[in-house]
Amino acid sequence: MGELKGKTAVITGASRGIGASTARLFAEAGANVVLLARSGSAIDALAAEIGGQALAVPCDVGSFRAVQAAVDAAAERHGGVDILINNAAVIEPIALLSATDPAAWSMAIDINLKGVYHGMRAVIPLMIGTGGGTIITISSGAAHNPLEGWSAYCASKAGAAMLTACADRENRGKGLRIMGLSPGTVATDMQREIRKSGINPVSRLDWSEHIPPEWPARALLWMCTPDADDFIGQEISLRDSAIRKRIGLSG
Ligand code: NAP
Repeated sequence: MGELKGKTAVITGASRGIGASTARLFAEAGANVVLLARSGSAIDALAAEIGGQALAVPCDVGSFRAVQAAVDAAAERHGGVDILINNAAVIEPIALLSATDPAAWSMAIDINLKGVYHGMRAVIPLMIGTGGGTIITISSGAAHNPLEGWSAYCASKAGAAMLTACADRENRGKGLRIMGLSPGTVATDMQREIRKSGINPVSRLDWSEHIPPEWPARALLWMCTPDADDFIGQEISLRDSAIRKRIGLSG
């Protein structure tokens, strides 16, 4: 380990699930990790577990002001930001579009789509100023396939995937590596919520079909290394067995 020695990574949605696994793995790989989520006590506990390399910054990614302040805090502590993992997202509201609460629908867009924009908007000028960086946004099969009951999630993830493509188009050649990761289904609280809903085929998957959150964390670590440069501007899928093999993940 040591692939990320001396690098600083801002990870949104770091209080649990894929974000928390990524924070632990990136810290093991030598990175300073800046943990963002709304649950201050959960990120404080994770930062305490990781130790001096971790900084917890309570932040709602739906607020640009809050994201900018968190990125500023990271840059002030570590002199810059080398990596942004845009991971925070919500699955709710789970309901047929015709029955969704407009306020809840709008909040999902604020978090899943505008939150990704906020992260990119805050770090891209900083990264260009310091010579480059890597921005990875967690995508989903739902970005490309409609699913019953998930109109806010599907629409927001489709938008986030397009933000990855647009940000790459504008910044290729400026030292920025911008990519997406579609993890497949992962055994986290999000899948527990999906399971409870019973609304579409994903909710009826057997739990054993979900991969552990450590797998996308491993993929994200690999994507931060030059070995993944062929995939700049693209979305990698962990359902792709060739990719899993390349990263050293079994199954
Ligand atoms: P999770 O266990 O529900 O965790 C979601 C994280 O996002 C939590 O840390 C949560 O923290 C944070 N978050 C939510 N709203 C936020 C906000 N407004 N501001 C800051 N942080 C916020 O979900 P997960 O499965 O790890 O999902 C991580 C990513 O993978 C998401 O982008 C998700 O769409 C994607 N993904 C997951 C699956 C899957 O099967 N699990 C499949 C495809 C893609 P707080 O609540 O403390 O704010």
